[in-house]
Amino acid sequence: MIHVENLIGGKFVSLDEKFEDTSPSDFSVIATIPRTKQVNDAVLAAKAALHDWSSLGIEQRCDWLDKIANELENEIQEVARLEALDTGKPMDVALNVDAKRSVNNFRFFAEFGRNLQEQKFEMSDATNYVIRKPIGVVGLISPWNLPLYLLSWKIAPALLMGNTIIAKPSEITPLTAHFLGRICTKIGLPDGVLNIVNGYGPEVGQAIVEHPEIKAISFTGGTSTGKIVAATAAPMFKKLSLELGGKNASIILDDADLEIAVPGVLRASFLNSGQICLCGSRVLVHASIYDDFMNRYLAELKDFKIGPVISEEHRQKVLSYIRLAIEEGGEILAGGNVPEKPGAWIEPTVISGLSHTSRTATEEIFGPVVTIHKFDTDEEAIEMANCTQYGLAGSVWSKNRGPHVAEKIESGMVWVNTWLHRDLRVPFGGVKDSGVGREGGLWSVGFFSEAVNICVMED
Ligand code: NDP
Repeated sequence: MIHVENLIGGKFVSLDEKFEDTSPSDFSVIATIPRTKQVNDAVLAAKAALHDWSSLGIEQRCDWLDKIANELENEIQEVARLEALDTGKPMDVALNVDAKRSVNNFRFFAEFGRNLQEQKFEMSDATNYVIRKPIGVVGLISPWNLPLYLLSWKIAPALLMGNTIIAKPSEITPLTAHFLGRICTKIGLPDGVLNIVNGYGPEVGQAIVEHPEIKAISFTGGTSTGKIVAATAAPMFKKLSLELGGKNASIILDDADLEIAVPGVLRASFLNSGQICLCGSRVLVHASIYDDFMNRYLAELKDFKIGPVISEEHRQKVLSYIRLAIEEGGEILAGGNVPEKPGAWIEPTVISGLSHTSRTATEEIFGPVVTIHKFDTDEEAIEMANCTQYGLAGSVWSKNRGPHVAEKIESGMVWVNTWLHRDLRVPFGGVKDSGVGREGGLWSVGFFSEAVNICVMED
């Protein structure tokens, strides 16, 4: 049994009121979590640490990011073990997707920081210098699907730019954030630079968003929660980054190479049990290759191993969409059942025969459920891909026309003949109801700093 504690001002603090963290694999209790309701202590600690941390040179902060990366890497098996325990995902996914990327997030921003160029704009009679100042105390709120991967994606650039942090992991998956806190205290990261508070989203998460001394909020989570966060933060003029839900399309054109498209689309459908905001939960297939594609896709699905979904509550939500799909006239081509064992398991499920405008095909399910749709022309595929309220990501599979179609998809990121192939320098984020703002490389640096222009008149 792990006892998760808050990290405030370099000290681990427990609270009398706690709740339980259960394993999605078998519903056993694995940890206790403090039910935090206010964040004043954490904000005071973060404010006290701000001057010294922001006064360090960027090189020194890069060194700290490298130290965190090194220590995390030394403990990478433990990071993966904790992530697998907390989320139920297979160990190879926890290691190769979650743990490795968490290390890379720190290492990437350390290197990126060392190579940041000064921005200078010459006029005929003056020179403009743009400097980047820290914002101050920032609030970072992350979801349960890729717990440390997504939280470290925010922590690393926030630290790089000289801010101090109040971080809140999801109440469902607090273990790796807690472990990161242990690592940071072990390596001597100055007290109060990284504070981690745990508890329920509408309590401690809301307290972070509402706190007047927290000047920026970087939030990743569902669109409906994002609306509450935006409504709370906007009147206080906080800087706000919102990475929200998705309902992404994988589009297989008639000239696709099925040798790469089938495994690629399958991975996009079901990696992490479909619980990645970038997953392709709508598969659009050209009519001329439909039978060939589907035969191979369903055959390869038999060998695709997934973990449970995150909780019983989430399983019930996913199952309600499978029932809805049947009501809407869908045909279950694979899965649809609940395996007879403890834990929040659901078979990977493939549904055809639904309108692309049906609720099942347009609402975010965030589980191992995919709908399949047939199209006849590129224009029809584009229209189908763009018909949801979301606009996060997508993929196009084609030998010749991939980029042409990709440019017409209304989303922040589109892959061609691949999926989840990430260069951490590029912008990451969504359009429409999938979010506001971008993260990654210069976009993260821009979000976690205030750009100040100094215009110097020449003599
Ligand atoms: P939620 O929106 O339920 O929660 C996200 C985070 O917000 C959690 O830490 C949660 O805490 C917290 N929270 C809940 N209520 C509030 C509140 N009122 N104020 C402040 N914080 C609050 O999302 P899920 O955790 O269910 O994650 C799944 C969602 O995340 C999906 O919609 C998915 O698409 C999206 N997502 C988006 C990504 C992107 O980059 N665009 C990446 C990954 C996921 P608690 O868990 O304790 O309730």
